[in-house]
Amino acid sequence: MALMGQMMGVPLLISSIIRHAARYYGDTEIVSRRTEGDLHRYNYRECELRARKLAQALGALGVQPGERVGTLAWNGYRHLEIYYGVSGMGSVCHTINPRLFPEQIAYIVNHAEDGYIFFDLTFLPLVEGIAQHCPKVRGWVAMTDRAHMPEQAKVPLLCYEELIEAQDGNYAWPELDENTASSLCYTSGTTGNPKGALYSHRSTVLHSYASALPDALGCSAKDVILPVVPMFHVNAWGLPYSVPLVGAKLVFPGAKLDGASLYELFEQEGVTFSAGVPTVWLGLLQHVQANELRFSSFRRTVIGGSAVPPAMMTALRALGVEVIHAWGMTEMSPLGTSCKLLARHQDLPEEEQQKILEKQGRVIYGVDMKIVDGEGKELPWDGKAFGDLLVRGPWIIDRYFRSDQSPLVDGWFPTGDVATIDAEGYMQITDRSKDVIKSGGEWISSIDIENVAAAHPAVHMAACISVQHPKWDERPLLVVMKKPGVEVSREDLLAFFEGKVAKWWIPDDVAFVTDIPLTATGKMQKLKLREQFKDYRLPSA
Ligand code: AMP
Repeated sequence: MALMGQMMGVPLLISSIIRHAARYYGDTEIVSRRTEGDLHRYNYRECELRARKLAQALGALGVQPGERVGTLAWNGYRHLEIYYGVSGMGSVCHTINPRLFPEQIAYIVNHAEDGYIFFDLTFLPLVEGIAQHCPKVRGWVAMTDRAHMPEQAKVPLLCYEELIEAQDGNYAWPELDENTASSLCYTSGTTGNPKGALYSHRSTVLHSYASALPDALGCSAKDVILPVVPMFHVNAWGLPYSVPLVGAKLVFPGAKLDGASLYELFEQEGVTFSAGVPTVWLGLLQHVQANELRFSSFRRTVIGGSAVPPAMMTALRALGVEVIHAWGMTEMSPLGTSCKLLARHQDLPEEEQQKILEKQGRVIYGVDMKIVDGEGKELPWDGKAFGDLLVRGPWIIDRYFRSDQSPLVDGWFPTGDVATIDAEGYMQITDRSKDVIKSGGEWISSIDIENVAAAHPAVHMAACISVQHPKWDERPLLVVMKKPGVEVSREDLLAFFEGKVAKWWIPDDVAFVTDIPLTATGKMQKLKLREQFKDYRLPSA
């Protein structure tokens, strides 16, 4: 018979993170740009107290254990209190992406059966538009004080600060089963209805430990961390948990995500570390370069959500900022891999190091991955063979919320990404399986093409999509948004590819556009582009 260990059965709970931060880093600051227009400052001790008051207030409103409480909110201290107050009391914090279409939001609210929705004032028109379509919501809470409450809202509203003020904070976090559901996030759902990933306390705490490790995100109490990635997109990649876990200062940008506003906040608060999708860094880089600015404290950033163009890494490095390329997804809490060098790479020439750092990286402990062919047979780790990427681990979903069917294949979650893995375990995404271009039976990586295009000085953003071709089935078309005031021809752009990719990978044509549509999470919306260009006739066709 197995001999059981004799250690305490203390459950892994989200409330333990904020309690730890309040007890051991109580004075450490949390700074937020508010929708009210000012900058708010307080610390972990006050945050935890207010989260307890919120839990009391929700109890008084009749919110039940396991019930979902929705948020439509920017990154800010009240959103953080909701993260901890709601999950801490045993209910489920359901972050909703306000950039989705109102119909999608109403669908999500109804599917999740949210009892209450907390929202930032920015989203009042959205709330007024969807409230009548969400009959199960018992109350809408405006995240502000009495003085800033809207005078004539079309929906009866509760006031966040009044809810908090009515409580005394005399509340002890309940000792829940660590497998209790803690939070819920729906995938952005480019096709079909959005699907919910229901995280648990255990999965969240384990993900927080692992993502804070030096070769993952590398968070420390000495850092000042500003998550640009929204708290409505996979829990801001777990930073609202991993930052208090290490006791670092937190800075929240609120609704102002343009380059100038971010730069000002980075400088003013001494931000050392940040995280966001590539499109956010485009805006910041443009502002910094156009005004010949420097960063005085900003040293590292995690970029993920879409592939980081190597040109962006180079530009940030020239400003003294190390880029950590990371990959993950909503279904993975989200972190799967991060890209750091190994000890044996330290003496490699810089270009070779750069080639490694451009990949999506190696798994962090907790995640296991493999690539398989069309028959499900595992492919070699040679950096060349590419196939469907599958993952498993304690913070990866087993099934979607309120769905009976398991998406797993022999216990592994199919990510929908196509990747290579090299002999050292570095994974590189070649495409989302829906985005690969199948030319004459061979695959072309749209990401590789986009990375080359992004390095051209005239290109602001570029997407490579497949277009029907009578001979080759599909051929690549490069859709380009130019930098303002810069001219470049189709021929110049295509010539730029010579010697950088295989000849047959070079796009057949270039289409210049004034705008590339982005998804609600800031990724290029290639599905929409494919629809837009579905009747495009390539010159080679
Ligand atoms: P989401 O669930 O919205 O976070 O989207 C997850 C998907 O984003 C992944 O399955 C990938 O297709 C894509 N993705 C995330 N990170 C990266 C990355 N570093 N490089 C390329 N694609 C990425």
